[in-house]
Amino acid sequence: MAANALRRPAQLVDAGLTGPDREAALEAVAARYAVAITPAMAELIDPSDPGDPVARQFVPDAAELSTSPEERADPIGDEAHSPLEGIVHRYPDRVLLKLSHVCAVYCRYCFRREQVGPQKGKALSPAALDAALAYIAGHPDIWEVILTGGDPLVLSARRLGEVARRIAAIGHVKVLRVHTRVPIAAPEGITATMVGALRAPGLATYVVVHANHPRELTAAARTACARFIDAGIPVLSQSVLLRGVNDDAETLAALMRAFVEARVKPYYLHHADLAPGTAHLRTTLAEGQALMRALHGRLSGLCQPAYVLDIPGGFGKSPVGPCYLRADGDGYRIEDFNGCAHTYPPPGDPCGSAQSELGRQRVRRSSSGNG
Ligand code: SF4
Repeated sequence: MAANALRRPAQLVDAGLTGPDREAALEAVAARYAVAITPAMAELIDPSDPGDPVARQFVPDAAELSTSPEERADPIGDEAHSPLEGIVHRYPDRVLLKLSHVCAVYCRYCFRREQVGPQKGKALSPAALDAALAYIAGHPDIWEVILTGGDPLVLSARRLGEVARRIAAIGHVKVLRVHTRVPIAAPEGITATMVGALRAPGLATYVVVHANHPRELTAAARTACARFIDAGIPVLSQSVLLRGVNDDAETLAALMRAFVEARVKPYYLHHADLAPGTAHLRTTLAEGQALMRALHGRLSGLCQPAYVLDIPGGFGKSPVGPCYLRADGDGYRIEDFNGCAHTYPPPGDPCGSAQSELGRQRVRRSSSGNG
């Protein structure tokens, strides 16, 4: 997959994606964290823009070598919930199944950056896969299996098809979810064979694509998403809120609309995790909440993702969007999208009172009249 991706700082210099003066510093970053930029993503970068939002996601930065005290190698605590190789079992009804440590592109903010990359391990061995599937089969509460990684769609259609069929054969698993950046970053990889491989009798397959800037929803990316959707596989999105990439209301709105126009339902907007060397890309939660408020009411409900934080230490995701409701006496105060507060339930409805009074007057007239 993506054999023609740019992987060395010297290649980035040759492609004009970074200056020769930065090559040595970026070699130090590349020695620690994997680098790959596919042709589809490299084409989107404007080399004349020092703040290009696509470059910020993929071109390494010397700032990645500075780790702040709150950052950690396993920011969402996968390890604490991994009973065996390849499985993360954090929530009762679903597991992550990590088939591969490799991705088509390497995102500079990746929450698993210490675990992904060609040097960070191998695809799950046949024996480890057998053990992982036996674990799933032995836990009847598991209703959904999420293929993640690394990027599962870097594997061959033959391998994915085999895994999908084996998961479908586990009677209590009803849903297969696939988390991937391939339809966006290497859309040529989404072939009819690949799409067919993810369908298995008795299993509802969902694909969740990852993109962070509206420019990433190219015609080829939309076609790749449409291949799944037209084959009956719903596609959802996940994005990461990133400083200098999508941390303004206009860009975020354009991204969510681009998803919906491609028939992709916005699902998650992740607050950036505390991955090492990513502080320069992280916003504050307050900034994220302000952006969600800016989307609320001004953008179709179809365009609203859930803003979520993976609690460090492995405690799972929680919604962290703004709250519009607060308790007030026996009722509530609820804020509308214009920032005006209202009492719920409303106090005596003046309109309703007037109608009641009118009704009482009618009754009085009819009872005192000539009937
Ligand atoms: S595609 Fe996903 S797993 Fe791979 S580097 Fe990007 S965020 Fe990390």
